[in-house]
Amino acid sequence: MELRRFFVSDSDIDGDSITVRGDEFRHMTKVLRLKKGFKAIVCANDGKERHCVINKIENDFATLTVERVETVDRKSASLTLFCGVLKNQNLDLVVRKAVELGVDVIVPFVSANTAETRFNEERASRIALESAKQCGAVYLSKIEQVCGFDEMLERFPDYSTVVFAYEEERKTALKQVDFQGDRIALVVGSEGGFKREERDRAEAQGAKIVTLGRRILRAETADIVACALTLDALGELDYD
Ligand code: SAM
Repeated sequence: MELRRFFVSDSDIDGDSITVRGDEFRHMTKVLRLKKGFKAIVCANDGKERHCVINKIENDFATLTVERVETVDRKSASLTLFCGVLKNQNLDLVVRKAVELGVDVIVPFVSANTAETRFNEERASRIALESAKQCGAVYLSKIEQVCGFDEMLERFPDYSTVVFAYEEERKTALKQVDFQGDRIALVVGSEGGFKREERDRAEAQGAKIVTLGRRILRAETADIVACALTLDALGELDYD
């Protein structure tokens, strides 16, 4: 049977001893009913899988002993997806697929044409955790709270390359982007798309404006396709 996977922060690791608490403890002991002596994989967002054995289960935490450590995912670049907030929980699908693909950070935003402005960060974080466990991720994608378009633009200088998918772009394809550095950001609009003025401001702030082809993709399709194309260009879809 596939070993179960849990995510902790590095402060929960003390040498060969790991403490699992909170929701992950409840999932381990109440949902999965793992017992003392059971094996599990523990990840702490450092590209390592720690193969452990449960050696103590208390009321609200468990301690595990590390038996071996494997470095399995040497990331060469990190990808942040800035995705327009979507209606009818379509962002749930985007979160799930972005985690499976290996997106590191997901930041929902609201722009002029965004119809839905509500976003449940806690729910999205739970979906991200569930998806990471299911796909055997070694890094746990971070979900941030919603930000405005202006605030998003202000963050562009934090990235070495920003790619902005604009539905009216006719020239530059994503594969033509010369990705610089290892902190990449990708921006995809909500159902209502972007105003020309938003596109121009993003470009002025250093974003590379790209097309995703002749057809107008649904926002959730564009999110997923753009993430896959970008991660592939960064070599993040290679196996090793
Ligand atoms: N309201 C827009 C329209 O009808 O033209 C459609 C917006 S589309 C549903 C949502 C987002 O997906 C866009 O803002 C863009 O970021 C991305 N997108 C969809 N199709 C695209 C394409 N062919 N090229 C570039 N971006 C695209």
